[in-house]
Amino acid sequence: MTTGFDALVIGAGPAGSAAAILLADAGWRVALVEKQAYPRRKVCGECISATNLPILQALGIGKAIGPLAGRPLRQVALVCGARIVRAPLPAFRDPVHQWGLAIGREHLDTLLLEQARCRGVSVFQPWQVCGIAGPPGHFQCRLRQGDGTGEYVLAAALVIDAHGSWEPPVLQEGGPRAPRDSRHRPSDLFAFKANFANASLDQGVLPVLSFPGGYGGMVIAGGARATFAFCLRRDALVEARIQFPNTTPAEAAQGWVRRHASAAAALLDDGVQVGKWLGAGPIRPGIHLGRRYAGAFRIGNAAGEAHPIIGEGISMALQSAVLLADTLLGQGAHRADGQAQVGIHAAYAEAWQRHFARRIHLSALYAQLAMRPHLLKGIFPALERHPALLTRFARWCGKVRPGPGLAGSERAAEYA
Ligand SMILES: Cc1cc2nc3c(=O)[nH]c(=O)nc-3n(C[C@H](O)[C@H](O)[C@H](O)COP(=O)(O)OP(=O)(O)OC[C@H]3O[C@@H](n4cnc5c(N)ncnc54)[C@H](O)[C@@H]3O)c2cc1C
Repeated sequence: MTTGFDALVIGAGPAGSAAAILLADAGWRVALVEKQAYPRRKVCGECISATNLPILQALGIGKAIGPLAGRPLRQVALVCGARIVRAPLPAFRDPVHQWGLAIGREHLDTLLLEQARCRGVSVFQPWQVCGIAGPPGHFQCRLRQGDGTGEYVLAAALVIDAHGSWEPPVLQEGGPRAPRDSRHRPSDLFAFKANFANASLDQGVLPVLSFPGGYGGMVIAGGARATFAFCLRRDALVEARIQFPNTTPAEAAQGWVRRHASAAAALLDDGVQVGKWLGAGPIRPGIHLGRRYAGAFRIGNAAGEAHPIIGEGISMALQSAVLLADTLLGQGAHRADGQAQVGIHAAYAEAWQRHFARRIHLSALYAQLAMRPHLLKGIFPALERHPALLTRFARWCGKVRPGPGLAGSERAAEYA
């Protein structure tokens, strides 16, 4: 087995697998390390904006996702208590991919990882990256096998950190250690997800739910199966557990949502739950990518996380992978030494801010509004009179903004 790599990627979510594929396609020797065994379900609303379909096509899974996904997403609905307003989603200006779709993460992440393997990426799964030592250009990455039985050290010139949001970042051994903030705050957001068969939710519609202390969404994500995912603040979860005693946190949270977003709850009334409730958190939306190079190039949620109310996390994961790969390849970063990596990081961090910072700030604004339905109720009459405002809100948060590097779908055309 090869133990010297041009790049080691931590985490095989959409960001990590996409970056691994793009670099392997350019002839790099890439190791992709994922700590979980696949297929696995994941807390996620599972909606993908149309802007990413050319990217998925370029990554080689365009044809495979169609049969596994729900019908194209053409409508958004805002649900607040018993009130609901519907509006068209904006169409992406692309001759082939005008509408987004929803697909289970157990399918999407597995397809991408398998594609990485097919493109020559060395996949280590279930293995976890535990530590990184050495200078850029000559990293020594310590891996531990999932069952704890084996350890392994890989040499890599460059490290790409795509560890997502739930796990702590892998620290550079001997490097500076920012204290991990583990304080409990009332505003901490916990995330939950369940799947339902036979829900009366229409295909192709994306209801967004507003309720006290949280927000969520539901969608048909393939196989006529509904995905229901939401976030709830810690203080609201505590209150929910008082109101729904003798239940699990997920059951109490679900009871809270059903009580406060009755129009949405009705859509699941006939639904039969498939699989367990998943819970995770707290999530920490915000920008995590510093301008200073800290020894790894961050992508996906590891670089920055938007509040999931806008459903743009998978977009930002895929698009930041494209942006990083384009920056690395454009600047001839193959086997770049420490000094060169610092310069490349500066260019990447600047481009990242341009593409994603606005989406993150806007998502925070929408989230704060959605978590306070008494404020939203004030603008509901205006939304009912002018549903096109909802379409505009969706446009503002980047739903139809072409991803970096693929504005004209040139790369997609190469693989079509
Ligand atoms: C409630 C909710 C609803 C959402 N709805 C949507 C939606 O509808 N649409 C949308 O686009 N986004 C949505 N998102 C956001 C989306 O799920 C994330 O933004 C996306 O998964 C980020 O992808 P990623 O590749 O950065 O990280 P992840 O998908 O989290 O992948 C990271 C991977 O890294 C692995 N890992 C971590 N540490 C290590 C390590 N040390 N060694 C090896 N492996 C490691 C993990 O096991 C994981 O598989 C939602 C999120 C939540 C919480």
